[in-house]
Amino acid sequence: MISRQELLERDQADELAFCRDRFSIPEGTVYLDGNSLGVLPKQVVSSVSDVVIHQWGVDLISSWNKHGWIEMAQRVGDGIGALIGAAPGQVVCTDSISVNLFKVLGAAKSLQPDRRVVLSTVDNFPTDLYMVQGLSRLLGEHEIELQLVEEGELVDHINESVMAIMLSHVNFRTGALLDMLDLTKRAHHAGALAIWDLAHSAGALEVELDACHVDFAVGCTYKYLNAGPGAPAFVYCNQAIVQQVTQPLSGWMGHAFAFEFDSNYTPDAGIKKFLCGTPPIVSMACVEAALSAFDGVSMHAIRAKSIALSETFEALLRDHGLLQLLTPVHSADPHTRGSQLAYASDHAYGLCQSLIERGVVPDFRAPNYIRFGFTPLYTSFDDVWKAVEHIVQAIENEEHMHPRWREKLAVT
Ligand SMILES: *Cc1c(COP(=O)(O)O)cnc(C)c1O
Repeated sequence: MISRQELLERDQADELAFCRDRFSIPEGTVYLDGNSLGVLPKQVVSSVSDVVIHQWGVDLISSWNKHGWIEMAQRVGDGIGALIGAAPGQVVCTDSISVNLFKVLGAAKSLQPDRRVVLSTVDNFPTDLYMVQGLSRLLGEHEIELQLVEEGELVDHINESVMAIMLSHVNFRTGALLDMLDLTKRAHHAGALAIWDLAHSAGALEVELDACHVDFAVGCTYKYLNAGPGAPAFVYCNQAIVQQVTQPLSGWMGHAFAFEFDSNYTPDAGIKKFLCGTPPIVSMACVEAALSAFDGVSMHAIRAKSIALSETFEALLRDHGLLQLLTPVHSADPHTRGSQLAYASDHAYGLCQSLIERGVVPDFRAPNYIRFGFTPLYTSFDDVWKAVEHIVQAIENEEHMHPRWREKLAVT
């Protein structure tokens, strides 16, 4: 049995403990939903005020030059790149994952005109699959065809018909972590491209895009990167292929010379070709400020604490004999999961809501999963203790079975 005293001592010894003060955490809240919407970093408030009040408010249009708004997508992209193993010049901050996937799928097709299969997993995040379906409807199934298999069967389906594998690094429901290096290698061996979605890995664990020779990657900034609701996403294209590819959303911000207003589109030679329209500067300022919460911290340390937090949580729950773990059990191999634990329960929605009433915030995913995300920059070992105590009490009091949880809110 782990004691609370032990966990308080772990917090004392925690080399990342000082980072908690970089965030604005509501009093009395244990927030275990940073995998859906990260907590507000304090730096965002002051930086965004400055952008609104001084840059927009006073310097107005001159800010595009004076405050570097025009290079912001690349500057912020490089900042994100530093957290995901991408050398500068390969990432831009822009649009949403969905839109970026559309561009990337189109770019993959431009490199592989004679192949049509996009191989993914049946339980990949739906929008990723929808974007392939949309492109397939646009171009026809003879050009793009979505093939879905179970995670465990991927290796058997990577063959010469595959245009690209398109996979989420961490499964959004179960937290299972795929082997990026091995699957990318297998894709390349079959002459296919590798597209990775880093929604649940950017800012949560070590990602090595360059070292794994990944072709394309996308990810969002409002989860573990804490940049706020609807903050712009990012897209990575390996420098080895960026010059050759074309992407279909050929907007003016991706033009080689946007301000020459030429009536013909000439893509930028580099990663800037993945931009489309005018960037959301205020929201991107949130991303830039939020990245500073990672200053002086290594992804290695973040990953180590993430594993320690979730192992502690799981061990405490196991001691109480509660809930059925869905995430691959990490104690055997910590490399098989991301920074969340998912549990299946018939009363998962009710449990989630009754915990929120108690000040512990997880989330619910259909049909019957409750997810707990561990964000090492602001979650303490004592938070984990408190969360488990509330789970035990909520279940003991049968709060999770209350009839008022039968109707679900619009966002779960
Ligand atoms: C959260 C998430 C998304 C969200 O996509 P947006 O277009 O940015 O809304 C996409 N894919 C995965 C795997 C996710 O977890």
